[in-house]
Amino acid sequence: MKLLEGKPVAARINDNLKKEIEEMKLKPVLASIQVGENAGAEAYAKSQKKAAQNLGIEYKFHKLDQATKARELIDFIQDLNQDKGISGIILQMPLPAHIDYKKMSSFILPEKDVEGMHPANAGKIVFGKAKILPCTPAAVMELLKETGIDLYGKETVIIGHSEIVGKPLSLLLLEKFATVTVCHIGTFAAGKLEEHTGRAEILIVAVGKAGLIKGEWVRQGAVVIDVGINRVEGKIVGDVGFEEAAKRASLITPVPGGVGPLTVTMLMRNVVEAAKGLK
Ligand code: NAD
Repeated sequence: MKLLEGKPVAARINDNLKKEIEEMKLKPVLASIQVGENAGAEAYAKSQKKAAQNLGIEYKFHKLDQATKARELIDFIQDLNQDKGISGIILQMPLPAHIDYKKMSSFILPEKDVEGMHPANAGKIVFGKAKILPCTPAAVMELLKETGIDLYGKETVIIGHSEIVGKPLSLLLLEKFATVTVCHIGTFAAGKLEEHTGRAEILIVAVGKAGLIKGEWVRQGAVVIDVGINRVEGKIVGDVGFEEAAKRASLITPVPGGVGPLTVTMLMRNVVEAAKGLK
């Protein structure tokens, strides 16, 4: 077994991005919007700011009042859409309960949607034409690229079918002609998770339930990518029983240190792509 770590891959992509940004006349600018107080959103924004600044991307943080109305947030987003000095816009999650995140994020101009979640960008994935990819699926694809494995015809099983991970990832894998099975809560209810994981040459798990996938369920020699992030007794763990899975897998991501470090790098790559597109 070898560890499939995100940091070295992220470092390499960051080096290239840094060079690319150095050569850009107009430096990319990422506008970040947080509404109200939220420790999680704040921590996330902080790590984005650090990543951006390390690369030479300007990070403009806007904190709006908790009582901001949906209409006011839309106006704020539309001002940023019009602002030629802004390359990308990110809306921090979660928003206060009275504002619908999905609805709000669809007001971000697709060209500035650096999370790749605008319906227009999500739709482009179907046609294999997306330049801006959702960050976590893009991170998984980079890790798979790192393995050097040819995805053509590979039995690939994704556990989790969310809009931000499983669904777009399934399309990116299909684009590479992997044979893709997507499992979810219904598969669990049918008692069939083990059956599917047992076939997977590549297993990707994005659920958010510690230890959901038992190590014994992993196929001998499989590549295992654990996207899950769970806090258990003060420690961060993934969704896969790591110890046992590591005995069977040929490559496995650690949690933390696998997909996570690459996700923010993919966001920065999207900011650079957006800046290039707006020139
Ligand atoms: P989500 O809650 O939106 O979706 C969860 C998915 O898991 C759904 O498809 C659901 O059907 C499925 N599911 C739930 N219980 C199940 C079960 N018992 N068996 C099989 N499937 C089950 O979650 P999400 O936003 O996609 O996030 C998933 C996990 O990935 C979370 O732990 C999240 O923190 C993590 N995550 C990590 C990164 C990263 O950068 N590393 C990024 C995004 C999400």
